[in-house]
Amino acid sequence: MADGTAYVTDPRMLAHDPGAGHPERSDRLRVLQDRVAAEPGLVRIGARAATDAELARVHTAELIARVDASGGRPRVHFDPDTATSAGSSDAARLAAGSVVSLCEAVLAGQVRNGVALVRPPGHHAERDRAMGFCLYNNVAVAARALRARGVPRVAIVDWDLHHGNGTQHSFEDDPSVLYVSTHQYPFYPGTGAAHEVGRGAGAGRTLNVPCPAGFGDAEFARLFDEAIVPILRQFAPEFVLISAGFDCDGRDPLGGLVLTPAGIARMARVLTSLAEERAGGRIVAVLEGGYDLAALTDGLDAVLDAFRGASEPEAVRGDARAADGVLARVRAAHAAYWRL
Ligand SMILES: [Zn+2]
Repeated sequence: MADGTAYVTDPRMLAHDPGAGHPERSDRLRVLQDRVAAEPGLVRIGARAATDAELARVHTAELIARVDASGGRPRVHFDPDTATSAGSSDAARLAAGSVVSLCEAVLAGQVRNGVALVRPPGHHAERDRAMGFCLYNNVAVAARALRARGVPRVAIVDWDLHHGNGTQHSFEDDPSVLYVSTHQYPFYPGTGAAHEVGRGAGAGRTLNVPCPAGFGDAEFARLFDEAIVPILRQFAPEFVLISAGFDCDGRDPLGGLVLTPAGIARMARVLTSLAEERAGGRIVAVLEGGYDLAALTDGLDAVLDAFRGASEPEAVRGDARAADGVLARVRAAHAAYWRL
């Protein structure tokens, strides 16, 4: 059985600069790179650029050409929040390709699990559109690569503060990929209502858990225990991907969720246990958002502890009755698809 926890990252991803004062700044990745460099016992996996064929499983040729064409130019604007610098197109290819590279190492049994420290982030990127700080949808490209390598069922759990509209849309009619998102709602980008459950053959394979501002560790523990984990168990993924945004931490300047590192550690441990139980231990966390540097490093520590076998989650204390309404909406939306 595969052993060891890996990471993948590359200094060239620091060269993506979306503009002075932008919250998605290179220091976010720099503090995480410093953190893994100081951590003994992690296996480093080589970064690589995604190929055209890998990107084309998710994105249109037009979008890929536009991002490529931005390379070497000082500034190209893709939407009001999303701009590139000379190094951004290389960074974006490396971000997507590095996640694939790590997933391949886990699938090959070279390592047991791992974290992909990448930027620009990915979960808002649509098939034909860069948006919300994202150029390519890194986690979607990786899920498609796993499917192409014969993994029958992939679960993506997105605990970033924001809804991953691009990831949802990539897989909404695909029964082989379960997309689960907890997110502040209503909030940017506006999608992610509980009744968005997927369509066609993918009906029931999109699980949105929209949370009001103010939800924290206790509410998230209930949402995981009473809805997310039961559905993941029934889906029985062969590989688990986490869209790990650390903007759900209460210190984040952009959002209104109030998780602490203990709450994030609990989510990471619950998902690691599920991967051990159902997916041969195969789990990879992919950096999405997170704009407070201390929240980023604490979040990475929480994920690494879980991946390296930290004990079962402790009970989270606190009144979680505020989650009743969200759970009722999720149960109603998914009653036709899962036992809850
Ligand atoms: Zn986010």
